[in-house]
Amino acid sequence: MFRIRIEDDFDASHMIPNHAGKCRNLHGHFYKVEVFSIGNELDDNGILRDSDFIDLKRTLSDIVSKYDHKHLNDIIGDDTTAENIAKIIFKELKDRDIKKLEKVRIWESPRNYAEYWE
Ligand SMILES: [Zn+2]
Repeated sequence: MFRIRIEDDFDASHMIPNHAGKCRNLHGHFYKVEVFSIGNELDDNGILRDSDFIDLKRTLSDIVSKYDHKHLNDIIGDDTTAENIAKIIFKELKDRDIKKLEKVRIWESPRNYAEYWE
């Protein structure tokens, strides 16, 4: 089995209005996004079949650019938790025909992340 991983990042503000703690207040994060792909077959170039780094990076960069320097509550129709952001980015990658997707990990700070996979 093979696993590859790429990462990108973005800065954004958000708030979780019904949160009992300080997350209800307007604040920002430097989000790190990691995308993992797995498969057991390599193509003729020795690259994980249907999962080239270049394609993955380009697609992720395009998705992430929608969120960079934005207020997430304005563009995400759900609670702007790391869990939901991971799910949304996973779905967007799938919608753009990224195959062999394993999971998406969103780091909200250097100490905590959330992951989504299916
Ligand atoms: Zn936050």
